[in-house]
Amino acid sequence: MAKLIVSDLDVKDKKVLVRVDFNVPIKNGVIGDDNRIVAALPTIQYIIDNNGKAILFSHLGRVKTEEDKKELSLRPVAERLSELLKKPVTFVPATRGKELEDAINNMKDGDVLVVENTRFEDLDGKKESKNDPELGKYWASLGDLYVNDAFGTAHRSHASNVGISSNMPQAAAGFLMEKEIKFLGDAVENPKHPFVAILGGAKVSDKIGVISNLIEKADKILVGGGMTYTFYAAKGLSIGKSLVETDKIDLAKQIIAEAGDKLVLPVDNVVATEFSNDAPHKVVEGDIPDGYMALDIGPKSVAEFKDVLKTAKTVVWNGPMGVFEMPNYAKGTLEVGEALGDLTDATTIIGGGDSTAAAKQLGIAPKITHISTGGGASLEYLEGKELPGIAAITNK
Ligand code: ADP
Ligand code: MG
Repeated sequence: MAKLIVSDLDVKDKKVLVRVDFNVPIKNGVIGDDNRIVAALPTIQYIIDNNGKAILFSHLGRVKTEEDKKELSLRPVAERLSELLKKPVTFVPATRGKELEDAINNMKDGDVLVVENTRFEDLDGKKESKNDPELGKYWASLGDLYVNDAFGTAHRSHASNVGISSNMPQAAAGFLMEKEIKFLGDAVENPKHPFVAILGGAKVSDKIGVISNLIEKADKILVGGGMTYTFYAAKGLSIGKSLVETDKIDLAKQIIAEAGDKLVLPVDNVVATEFSNDAPHKVVEGDIPDGYMALDIGPKSVAEFKDVLKTAKTVVWNGPMGVFEMPNYAKGTLEVGEALGDLTDATTIIGGGDSTAAAKQLGIAPKITHISTGGGASLEYLEGKELPGIAAITNK
């Protein structure tokens, strides 16, 4: 369903409350990766270029104690934002009260203001994270319009997304949110075929929802990573010391039966005696020998996966093919990632925190059509769930 977008709003002279995702890694006041701040720029720039006042809300980390507040202030983020926008940005070290209200009332058209970490409100009864009705209503009272550009928290019902939305006559999506909905939505609801899903990562239990939702929609589901060996166990293959979820073996059997030849499991694996880059390792086909654990898919599997990918028109990738953090077990993930990057005639989408990290580490990120900014949110989207943060945005 089409959503109201920030560009549909008349923002001139308006106080525009914007939920962004500025949840960036910060150590000792220094920002590690500012991708998320950069990703929010188009929406902020649009509002200031059109003479609106941009009032930005975001969470940062988890605030459990008074101590946590020191490390989790959004002040460094406001400073970086100011550098990126090349203009002053007001930072208010409060989430409510006179200082915040005065600062907002003193804003001129085109000004930008960053409110302190919304999760500072969590110290007092998790008001932000549990969507306290009074808090959402209060924040909504501070502005004229509301824009949600925080896809990364769209799977959660918080005061700063669902709470504000429900106290405003309408809520619009920001440009980042719009992009996420477009790419993930088209892939799941309206993919160009052949549609191939590549699923990996540690646990079957994390990905069951995605597999179930994509079984009907995808033409092929390529499985790799740690969850492979629960499927191996379901097929009666030996798995040695490999990762397995014994309570999910029956479910794996069911999926195998349902998916038929859509489901492609690796035919060979890189196995090692220990969970260590330096452990003795080798490639084996089929059964995993006793005393060994499978830590990556093998070269024959990579070749088969590449063959399937060659003709794909839509590819969704979630979860690495092996323990890519260790160089000896990164090859499967690297080669599948490269094959994805080489598809010039397909829409390629990556979702999931570790898969995104892998894509960046391997240098293939620039060749991917869309890398989702939301780990958990993208997974839930691929599971076909309605995300509360998106549901709360006004339909056009
Ligand atoms: P994402 O964050 O992309 O959704 P996951 O969190 O599900 O991915 O899984 C990523 C983790 O899975 C990585 O830390 C990786 O080392 C681990 N992993 C992948 N393959 C294996 C394997 N064969 N054995 C153990 N762990 C694995
Ligand atoms: Mg992960």
